[in-house]
Amino acid sequence: MPPCVICKEPVSRWPSFWPSGEPHYKLVHPDYFKWFRRFFIVLLIFDAVLIATLGILNLFVPVADIGNVLARFVPDSPPYHILTLILTFAELVIVIIIYQVKLYRFKLEWRENH
Ligand SMILES: [Zn+2]
Repeated sequence: MPPCVICKEPVSRWPSFWPSGEPHYKLVHPDYFKWFRRFFIVLLIFDAVLIATLGILNLFVPVADIGNVLARFVPDSPPYHILTLILTFAELVIVIIIYQVKLYRFKLEWRENH
């Protein structure tokens, strides 16, 4: 069984950092349980708004032209599809860093109290 990401006790679910449906997190780490749910919802809303904005923008400026418009303002900008990949990767890295920092704080707090 995979270990709990905070106290290393075995949990029944994989991936083990996913608290939803795992009683251990709900009972032993309720703060983590609540924080993760909020974090995930905010991320979903953020991405939904971003995708909707790009979708609406695409109605007025076709995706193929965004690269041209961008190139006019930022001459050395990478092609639009590459830029999209870079931004997606950047968001992933930022999300992982935020998660790791928060998880580190949960672990510290757990160690101080147990
Ligand atoms: Zn635990």
